[in-house]
Amino acid sequence: MLPTYEGLTGKTAVVTGGSGVLCQAMAKELARQGMGVAILNRNAANGQKIADEIKEQGGTAIAVSCDVLNEESVKEAYEVVKQELGECDLLINGAGGNHPDAITDKETFEAGDIEDATLKSFFDLQLNGFDFVFRLNLVGSLIPTQVFAKNMTERGGNVINISSMSAPAPMTKVPAYSAAKAGIDNLTKWLSVHFADAGIRINAIAPGFFLTEQNRGLLLNEDGSLSTRAEKIISHTPQRRFGKPEDLLGTLLWLADDNTSGFVTGITVPVDGGFMAYSGV
Ligand code: NAD
Repeated sequence: MLPTYEGLTGKTAVVTGGSGVLCQAMAKELARQGMGVAILNRNAANGQKIADEIKEQGGTAIAVSCDVLNEESVKEAYEVVKQELGECDLLINGAGGNHPDAITDKETFEAGDIEDATLKSFFDLQLNGFDFVFRLNLVGSLIPTQVFAKNMTERGGNVINISSMSAPAPMTKVPAYSAAKAGIDNLTKWLSVHFADAGIRINAIAPGFFLTEQNRGLLLNEDGSLSTRAEKIISHTPQRRFGKPEDLLGTLLWLADDNTSGFVTGITVPVDGGFMAYSGV
């Protein structure tokens, strides 16, 4: 079990995408640390399930229906959180994901791909699919930061974005997701500079490869065995395994607590089993 982080007790955390695989683990741990936790999800019922689990363990949590791409929806969620739990001290921008319309079928282009009507090449990517994934992963963190960090300018606060291993060197097939996550690293730095005097720290966590709902189709074959892509990932991960949601929690708590990371802002911390350090040779 992780130690107690005294700087978190009694404060309020807002976790977008908090019913997702990675962020529900974060929401539960922050509640275990004594924070009041608001889970913001498009689907309130999914968020409520996590909030109920937290409450059963003696924690404080609410679920609020919210679309991070809709400014009005985020503002409404802000009002609910303020009324139920008080002002937000820690914002985790966890909502994110991919969409088939923004994914190429093949890793690299080969002669004849354009003529192959059964294949989705780069030239067949749907602009609205690309736009959706780009906006979800970049603007979907910008809007909640605009809404929830405004009050932090008077009291200080903390924002943690979720990046990806696709940010420093883009993964094949997912150009929109990769560009957006690279944008997250850049925006994290920009925000950290912009708000340093206001006492708001902004950092990011870049998870390596975690087997979750959004990438299950890419990583597992129908019979449950590892896909060629998953085998590639594991062979490029020096620790030779996928991450588990709990692997993120130590880094999360360290970044969340001013007592342990008060002089840290503008960085992206890889939690990746060594993926980023490995050249592949
Ligand atoms: P997930 O699909 O399990 O959860 C994503 C959550 O975001 C869901 O609860 C979904 O309801 C919510 N969401 C999606 N669109 C939303 C919207 N418009 N408004 C509000 N909520 C919305 O994903 P996950 O694997 O837990 O990923 C969480 C974050 O971590 C994402 O930003 C993802 O890109 C990132 N990430 C994941 C991995 C991985 O291996 N799974 C690796 C690196 C980064």
